[in-house]
Amino acid sequence: MKVQQICVLGSTGSIGENTLDVIARHRDTLNVYALSAYSRIERLAAQAQATRARVVVVPNEAARARFVQAWPASQRAPEIRVGATALAETVADTEVTSVMAAIVGAAGLPAALAAAQAGKRVLLANKEALVAAGELFMRTVRECGAELLPIDSEHNAIFQCLPHSSGCPGSHPAPGVRRLLVTASGGPFRSTPLDQLDHVTPDQACAHPNWSMGRKISVDSATMLNKGLEVIEAHWLFAMPVERIQVLIHPQSKVHSMVEYEDGSILAQLGQPDMRTPIAYGLGFPDRIDSGVGLFDLATLGRLDFELPDLNRFPCLRLAFEALRAGQVACIALNAANEIAVDRFLKQQISYTQIARIIEACLNRVGGQAISSPETLDDVLALDAHTRAMASEFCLSAA
Ligand code: NAD
Ligand code: MG
Repeated sequence: MKVQQICVLGSTGSIGENTLDVIARHRDTLNVYALSAYSRIERLAAQAQATRARVVVVPNEAARARFVQAWPASQRAPEIRVGATALAETVADTEVTSVMAAIVGAAGLPAALAAAQAGKRVLLANKEALVAAGELFMRTVRECGAELLPIDSEHNAIFQCLPHSSGCPGSHPAPGVRRLLVTASGGPFRSTPLDQLDHVTPDQACAHPNWSMGRKISVDSATMLNKGLEVIEAHWLFAMPVERIQVLIHPQSKVHSMVEYEDGSILAQLGQPDMRTPIAYGLGFPDRIDSGVGLFDLATLGRLDFELPDLNRFPCLRLAFEALRAGQVACIALNAANEIAVDRFLKQQISYTQIARIIEACLNRVGGQAISSPETLDDVLALDAHTRAMASEFCLSAA
């Protein structure tokens, strides 16, 4: 089997660390070419030593100095590249075969898009890239002959349940498919009394009952905006109209999503809530490789529950459905407003319930402006910046 040369974007994050864990189990077929991080530069240096990465990408000169300081003098250092442009250039290096896009937020879009443009195998964890630029991203994947493998557990599950000839990138729904059934745990506040939600803390919001993840996506899971982003992601990955995507709360997080076919069959993918399973699926595709995830004992599973989400409890999910129906401008605004609101919530500058209010205020404001649908990456980034400024102001007046 040919050795893959992998570039891990966001290697110090939760997905990045899990990716390196899987790669380390397959040294004969999976090789790290480049690593990137925005913070935790000492951790990046340790990762680069362990993987013998040839290149590392850091955000600025201060980070470069920290990396050099953390590097042991006795060892040969990797090539250090600096800045967002270097990130987008690195994924396109001829040596690179596969790119794990695991930067958090729309900040990950330019490099993920560059990987698609360079025709690489793209393992996409960074869902915000598709929310902000779904049409552009999918078109680029098709036109540049890239291979797109979804890593988000729900989309990876759906991908596994679809016939491979019609997986993604889809330009129309796979034949015979009636609906995509996207599961959600409901997060830590699934049954918290509504009048207590005003007072929940960032740590409570980040204490996910089943998954261990970065702080931004943990808050998104609590508000269920994460599931809204995933509905938009599924719409683009599988060319599925919004009416044919159903969200189901499944508190056990064992069924990672399902595909319902015209004949009444429902195919599901089950497993432990451990991201190494979808990551290993992407790294090994089309083969199955060891992920380090242990046995899953169905005999002790007990029960699997499913119910419809309460949009009153989870207004962010409603807003995401509305944004998808409204179009690309609204989706960019939804994501950008959320990134700002979640950041301010994590810094304890606004309350949990204000997250949804700020997103809604931004969507209303953007909806009232005559903004044409973005066509290029620059258009997307300009609208993203416009909404961030707006959301920051709303946060200030909410504080
Ligand atoms: P994280 O916060 O743990 O890690 C984010 C990584 O991105 C870090 O390496 C960080 O240094 C880097 N980064 C942050 N801002 C950056 C910037 N402006 N420029 C360049 N690099 C930057 O996040 P995570 O939980 O690993 O999530 C990463 C992505 O994967 C997100 O889009 C998330 O929605 C998606 N995802 C995560 C999980 C999960 O289990 N954690 C599951 C599904 C999807
Ligand atoms: Mg997910």
